[in-house]
Amino acid sequence: MLNIAGWLRHVRLRLQGRELMISGQCRQCGSCCQRIQIQQGRRWLRSKHAFKKLVRTHPGYGRFSIMGRDSHGLLLFECSWLQPDNTCLNHEKRLNICRSFPAKGIFFCGGQLPRECGYKVHEVVPFAKVLQEKIDKREERQ
Ligand code: SF4
Ligand code: SF4
Repeated sequence: MLNIAGWLRHVRLRLQGRELMISGQCRQCGSCCQRIQIQQGRRWLRSKHAFKKLVRTHPGYGRFSIMGRDSHGLLLFECSWLQPDNTCLNHEKRLNICRSFPAKGIFFCGGQLPRECGYKVHEVVPFAKVLQEKIDKREERQ
């Protein structure tokens, strides 16, 4: 779900014809497993009640426990599967939210990467757009 800052970023990128690109690689710092926001459908979890309901329908989320809230009031979770060496207890059975981290959607709801993270987010002009502009210019010259 977009917050106002995220929505403005979304609109600005659309108007500029730009998009988000993520580069880099995981350094296994473990930070993203210690401060997690969880989405249910299109909504980020804000209440213990909603979290309990999610665990009833998706028991895999029972590995998480609430550790606080962010500045937007969204619940933050830590994961009991995180090992002291920052590896996952069962990497093959990690959830989709773990597999897809860092998903671009987090940057449209005010989220940021942990400072230690090996990934970076960039605002770029998509290659297809650059190519189309070059083709258009060439056609104009002919
Ligand atoms: S399941 Fe593994 S990858 Fe996912 S948050 Fe927990 S420790 Fe991290
Ligand atoms: S925060 Fe980034 S570098 Fe650290 S474990 Fe998560 S994905 Fe890897």
